[in-house]
Amino acid sequence: MNIGFIGIGIMGRPMAKNLIKAGYALTVYDKFAPTDDLVALGAVAAKSNKDVAAQSDIIITMLPNSPHVKEAVMGEDGVLEGARPGAILVDMSSIAPSASQEICAAAKAKGVTMLDAPVSGGEPKAIDGTLAIMVGGDKKTFETVKPILEKMGSSVVLVGDIGAGNVTKLANQIIVALNIAAVSEALVLATKAGVKPEAVFDAIKGGLAGSTVMNAKVPMILDGNFKPGFRIELHIKDLQNALDTAHNLNVAVPLTANVMETLQALKVDDMGANDHSAIVRFYEKLAKIEVRK
Ligand code: NAD
Repeated sequence: MNIGFIGIGIMGRPMAKNLIKAGYALTVYDKFAPTDDLVALGAVAAKSNKDVAAQSDIIITMLPNSPHVKEAVMGEDGVLEGARPGAILVDMSSIAPSASQEICAAAKAKGVTMLDAPVSGGEPKAIDGTLAIMVGGDKKTFETVKPILEKMGSSVVLVGDIGAGNVTKLANQIIVALNIAAVSEALVLATKAGVKPEAVFDAIKGGLAGSTVMNAKVPMILDGNFKPGFRIELHIKDLQNALDTAHNLNVAVPLTANVMETLQALKVDDMGANDHSAIVRFYEKLAKIEVRK
């Protein structure tokens, strides 16, 4: 079985490496980033998205957002120009659920089946092959692809029809953003009150307020280390998709809107390329204090 991998970025590169390590034959392409390290490991470099598709039974895409996936799949020299009927497209990017459904319909017209399979966990889990993968699509295609996804993730769950993977990812991104904001606001208050933030973290991380987000982000905040990780710009992209999806469904999401404005303020303050743990910097400015060890 030949697998095509499109989008060799922060996440796609280690994910593709894990598939090569697992023994799969991989054809790779990125419009801008180099692929030489993957070729050195045995992958074949393609000339275009169309070229990847022509050589693959299963085509995986790991691209920034909806317009990039639409261009790579439905655009000129795109996947659908090269894919054979019966091929499977697995889009692992975090995009708008409505875009997944639109791309799936275009794929179906060419005899290509599609799953949306966004991931959570970030670069470290992409490297370890322990991502959480949330999948939308039909069960038969899911079962075909699941062993491949299990080489990249430790949790692979079918959550519903096409688009449901990205709805689940939006839920994930809302919870993560709000959690970082809550942790930030609380630690700024504790620090201003004269209590050491590392002591607060130690005292509460095992209780009800403890979370994976807290364990991952508080050490970064305490060190003043805002190197991404997950960039604020990407989280703005996800929350924009969450706001658009919510409003199209007649759902108000006031907490998401609030954190979105915090992220926008940080972007204006030239912090868009920082890790999303830099949300704390917004709250630090409000209180004129820094949460550091
Ligand atoms: P990235 O920007 O590092 O990688 C995307 C790659 O896609 C780039 O190398 C770019 O050159 C390539 N690309 C763009 N348009 C293309 C096209 N038309 N054809 C071929 N290649 C094209 O992004 P990333 O951090 O790897 O994230 C990828 C996706 O995964 C995003 O949707 C992101 O939200 C999601 N995600 C990222 C993280 C993270 O921590 N970075 C975690 C979970 C999910």
